[in-house]
Amino acid sequence: MTVKGEATVVKHTGSHYLLAQLPEWDLFPAVLRGKIRLKGSTATNPVAVGDKVTFEADGPVSEENPAAITAVHPRRNYIIRKSTNLSRQSHIIASNLDRAFIIATIDYPELKLPFLDRILVTCEVYNVPVTIVLNKVDLYRESHAEMLAAFHEIYEGAGYPVMEVSAKTGEGVDELREACRGHVSLFSGVSGVGKSSLIKALDPSLDPKVGEISEAHVQGRHTTTFYEMYALSSGGFIVDTPGLRGFGLVDLKKEEIALYFPEMLRVSEDCRFAPCTHTHEPGCAVKEAVEAGEISYDRYSSYLGMLDEEGKYR
Ligand code: GDP
Ligand code: ZN
Repeated sequence: MTVKGEATVVKHTGSHYLLAQLPEWDLFPAVLRGKIRLKGSTATNPVAVGDKVTFEADGPVSEENPAAITAVHPRRNYIIRKSTNLSRQSHIIASNLDRAFIIATIDYPELKLPFLDRILVTCEVYNVPVTIVLNKVDLYRESHAEMLAAFHEIYEGAGYPVMEVSAKTGEGVDELREACRGHVSLFSGVSGVGKSSLIKALDPSLDPKVGEISEAHVQGRHTTTFYEMYALSSGGFIVDTPGLRGFGLVDLKKEEIALYFPEMLRVSEDCRFAPCTHTHEPGCAVKEAVEAGEISYDRYSSYLGMLDEEGKYR
């Protein structure tokens, strides 16, 4: 007898998938039946972690008798990474995300604002709400008090909630756990910021593997291990993203980039020209806001950097 159902993809390894009927964590194996491709998608993976799928099963499902994924439902949102700057190939990291928690540090390792801003733009493009999580505050709260205050002002001013946590002392971890409850959340951050430590602090039974995804995998050919969803024992699900180097912009036109800097978007309707690149145009409200100190010069620099890069590869 064939049974039909709906489930969420929680893991993808080669041609094998693991599904669960969230919020139940009733993991069962599945494979793709036939060719599944969402219209207009150039992604190398037709089915991604977080996808809602229709499956069919003949008899009890087991490794030998996996369910068959027959359809992928339209994605509410997703996060993508480009294979290389020059290729048009992209890989969907995860879909149907309620929120992305971007883990960063003011120091140890030193904060790279352009990298953070690039991730934020990507999340804006794909409609994933972001919370910035500043980890390791035990190390720099006193020594970098001014930078910390400036960070809050810039990013909260732009519209991003900023949490302070320490995986080491446990400070802020309860609040983060609470924020994850009942949601599917993406966890990302450059290596060394303490993402693994933080996930373990949220749920000691989890043991995220670090660095399992190499750049070579994403370049194509042998794609073995992909991203994976974990169930937090306190409730909620997280998708860890090891090796995030290639997290970047996909198919953005120059004049579109500023739309994804919320604080620039807000003032840009007052620019004399439309579209305005906010670089050389007279009567540019964004440049005026930067000069008046209302928009952070660092954020504006990140924006200019992205403009420059898009120009180069187009
Ligand atoms: P990941 O690469 O982002 O997964 O980072 P890890 O979790 O491996 O942590 C990198 C280093 O930072 C390790 O030596 C951790 O012990 C340390 N670390 C992580 N979180 C904290 C924190 O909140 N405070 C301090 N002092 N060290 C931390
Ligand atoms: Zn302008």
